[in-house]
Amino acid sequence: MPQLSRRRFLTTVSKGAASIAILGVAACSGDGGDATSTTTAAAPSPSTSAPPQPTVTTTTSGAPATTATSPTSTTTPAGGQAAMWGRVNLGNVSAYILERSGEAVLVDTGLGGSAGAIEAALGSLGLTWANIGHVILTHRHGDHVGSIDAVMAAAPEATGYIGEADAAAVSAPRPMTIVNGGDSVFALDIIATPGHTPGSISVFDPIGRILVSGDAVLGGAEPGSVAGASPRFSDDMAVADQSVIDLASLQPTAILPGHGEPITADAATKLDALATSL
Ligand SMILES: [Zn+2]
Repeated sequence: MPQLSRRRFLTTVSKGAASIAILGVAACSGDGGDATSTTTAAAPSPSTSAPPQPTVTTTTSGAPATTATSPTSTTTPAGGQAAMWGRVNLGNVSAYILERSGEAVLVDTGLGGSAGAIEAALGSLGLTWANIGHVILTHRHGDHVGSIDAVMAAAPEATGYIGEADAAAVSAPRPMTIVNGGDSVFALDIIATPGHTPGSISVFDPIGRILVSGDAVLGGAEPGSVAGASPRFSDDMAVADQSVIDLASLQPTAILPGHGEPITADAATKLDALATSL
């Protein structure tokens, strides 16, 4: 891992000391529908429709975070740091942004043509492309890597990361850094979650225990519920199920999935129940 210098951003926070806020930077669909009420399917079904224009909505998770459109206005306990993630709701798929100490990480890039929506989401968080130091791709599917070219061009200082077994399937304007389970990027834990694709990875933020799960765990059909990887779109369901079991051991406070709504209440309990059912 050539990114050890990034460890300066690592903040030592005792468990439970961080506030949590998940900012929804929603994208309304082109027909004017309400993006906050249109999530009906957990399964990814890549679309070729043009990315929608973003609007900003907010959701929060957990006390004592304060609903906000800017990270600077959340409650941050003394000695702690806010575990604040911004959701870029691109309609059928979500990307996520985390900013700390003026530097940000983007997890996934949506379909091709999503860079404008991501840029708008950055703006709503008080950020620009210049803040993006890291772009993590959870896996090789086009609805997650589709805008990698535009994102890397817009954020010339950013380093891209992808799981080893998916790397060959993705071309980017400059070489991506290969990551495996156990690696750390921007003080975030990279978790190997194969099965959906061989190189699928999830991202675990130990501050607040936030899990960005890619397509290894999805939001269920009922908002707030959790579902495993889609059998229709996954390479190996036996392996994917084991990845769900592995993720459950993290006991996340919130799950931010690639598809479906974030799980912000009883996430660990729900994920445990799902893992037990497999
Ligand atoms: Zn996928």
